[in-house]
Amino acid sequence: MSNQTQRLQLPSTVMQDRILWRYAVVLVVMHALALLAVIPWLFTWTGLIACVVGVFFFGQGINFCYHRLLTHRSFVVPKWLERFWVVIALCCLEDTPCKWVTTHRHHHKHSDHEDDPHSPLVTFLWSHFQWVTRHNTATRTTDAYHYYTKDILSDPFYMALEKRLLLAPMIFLAHAALFLVAGYGIGWWQTGTMAGALQMGLSLLVWGVFLRVVLVWHITWSVNSLTHTWGYRNHDTPEHSRNNWIVALLAVGEGWHNNHHHDQASASNQHRWWEIDLTYYHIALLKRLGLARKVVAPKHIRRAAQAERRLEAAPQTEQRSTADAGV
Ligand SMILES: [Zn+2]
Ligand SMILES: [Zn+2]
Repeated sequence: MSNQTQRLQLPSTVMQDRILWRYAVVLVVMHALALLAVIPWLFTWTGLIACVVGVFFFGQGINFCYHRLLTHRSFVVPKWLERFWVVIALCCLEDTPCKWVTTHRHHHKHSDHEDDPHSPLVTFLWSHFQWVTRHNTATRTTDAYHYYTKDILSDPFYMALEKRLLLAPMIFLAHAALFLVAGYGIGWWQTGTMAGALQMGLSLLVWGVFLRVVLVWHITWSVNSLTHTWGYRNHDTPEHSRNNWIVALLAVGEGWHNNHHHDQASASNQHRWWEIDLTYYHIALLKRLGLARKVVAPKHIRRAAQAERRLEAAPQTEQRSTADAGV
């Protein structure tokens, strides 16, 4: 399916007039806070480095953990490591694991069809961020969470994040406070003045948290909007997914989205040698270190392994049937 002129109505499960204010307000406030980065007094090289490194490090909370580990179960890591990355993902303010995974599994079930929670065939802006601010009975109800994420909710920590509504925001605020305090300490150490300490503390908060959060949002949202709109296709999948190299660079491999839709279970999105997938290299490194297990190989390797297993089993079956026949 590649006819981009096709248009979709909003899913019938979306309540257009029911705005989720807590999401809408956070979205507007965080963008306003990120704009503080234009104030020259708040610029420091440390803040800029914290922002750039943070986009990739905290982004792994979403790409590596929420997406490939929790949504698709493309590999397994020890529970302590999984929860560490869930905490990092919570610092991106992209909702709890249960809610994120519910929306994404629903997306894969209905991609670019009427029930897709964020198809650009409705409008580009709907797929990019507007869907976040509207109630959708297919993805934002307790029934939906139980239908899509029984496996996630069986973990007491992830269940606690659903039951104690302040837990996830508190984790986010604690990490923001940590950036402020660390910056204050660095500034004091560098300048020995209160003004220097305050400047560095606020710089790390604005660049290392507010701006970084907004950038990670737009990168994640681009996977929903841009990579279902612009790019090339390696596979004739039954939706409009694309491989978009800009998104692939920023979202460290998630932009090879047509490859991903073709082979959702695979830990790797790299189907050609130049389709670099840093998130997969992260997984491969953990496998090397003995920390990642059950890493799902690409489809063609899984099929070859299956065929090999069938071939190995065939002579035995043949031998058995010959023995049964008393030959
Ligand atoms: Zn998609
Ligand atoms: Zn996916």
